[in-house]
Amino acid sequence: MKKNILVAGGAGYIGSHIAYLLAAHDYQVVIFDSFVYDQEFSPSWATVVKGEIADTKLVQETIKKYDINAIVHCAARIEVGRSVTDPADFYQTNLIDTALFFEAARKSGVKTYIFSSSCAVYGDPVTLPLHESHSKNPLNPYGKTKRAIEWLLEDYAQAYDIQYVTLRYFNASGALPEVGIGECHDPETHLIPLAIDALQTQRPLKIFGTDYSTPDGTAIRDYVHVIDIAKAHIQALEHLDKTAISGYFNLGTGEGHSVKKVIETIESISGKKVPILEMPRREGDTAILVADAEEARRILNWKPEHSSLEFIIQSALKWELIRFHDQRQKKIIVSVA
Ligand code: UDP
Repeated sequence: MKKNILVAGGAGYIGSHIAYLLAAHDYQVVIFDSFVYDQEFSPSWATVVKGEIADTKLVQETIKKYDINAIVHCAARIEVGRSVTDPADFYQTNLIDTALFFEAARKSGVKTYIFSSSCAVYGDPVTLPLHESHSKNPLNPYGKTKRAIEWLLEDYAQAYDIQYVTLRYFNASGALPEVGIGECHDPETHLIPLAIDALQTQRPLKIFGTDYSTPDGTAIRDYVHVIDIAKAHIQALEHLDKTAISGYFNLGTGEGHSVKKVIETIESISGKKVPILEMPRREGDTAILVADAEEARRILNWKPEHSSLEFIIQSALKWELIRFHDQRQKKIIVSVA
């Protein structure tokens, strides 16, 4: 029988795509979210509970009421730069509240956990592409809090009768405009939505760093469509159902694209110029981040199928057009995850 899944952070960017795909695969989905930006999000395909992950009483009541037997946890603070200037908020939400949340779920008898982690746990790459066994030296509080929760789950699985899959996302991007969900962070810091915004407003996009040791001097990232990321959560649940073996998996395509390549692709799809401003490097950025996602392919049978840069950008452009032109839609998703 399909599980009843609680998706913490399910009204955020990545969480909403995961929740949608779970529902489309006949899971019973309960979205648990604090609606930190008062976003309007009441999908017909999921139950929505508004609450804080640290509200252990509400977490336990929700688990009991909906007979939850697996947790997908993607509620988190995500802006890497702000994690350096305001670490307290990150340690509070991503570490302390998350630990309280997992403990409440464990005490309620939940045994299956899928955790949203990040390639930020690796820090500066020593070898590329990044394999799960690469050293973990996170450079900022965001990456450190993600790594700390990876340890918590490892220790929980050792000591208690639980299983987990930790998924380390590379650059989640793209949208599902036909479902009305997509990226809308506040403030926005990610390249693709900012480049599309520059296209629409003609306010220049800042390129952070043009002197990296890469072919065109700009930084290279591994962009993976959010729906491919969502799919991995379903495969992770199936994997735990079958094997009960916990593990870590990178989610990326293994292919990197430079900032300039992203801009060129947006220009060639839209037929318009993205105004740019060349700036110094952004603090904490590294030249190249590309995943070795062989483990996810081998163990979870995961393969990114919607992650060509062209498709990612087409879907992001469609989503931005909806948001730009429809004030009502504009408030659908303000990501908290
Ligand atoms: N970037 C940029 N201008 C921006 C935002 C991002 O040049 O306005 C660059 C950033 O320095 C990095 C890449 O685009 O090299 C991807 O950044 P993003 O914030 O989207 O994701 P990150 O890799 O930091 O998680």
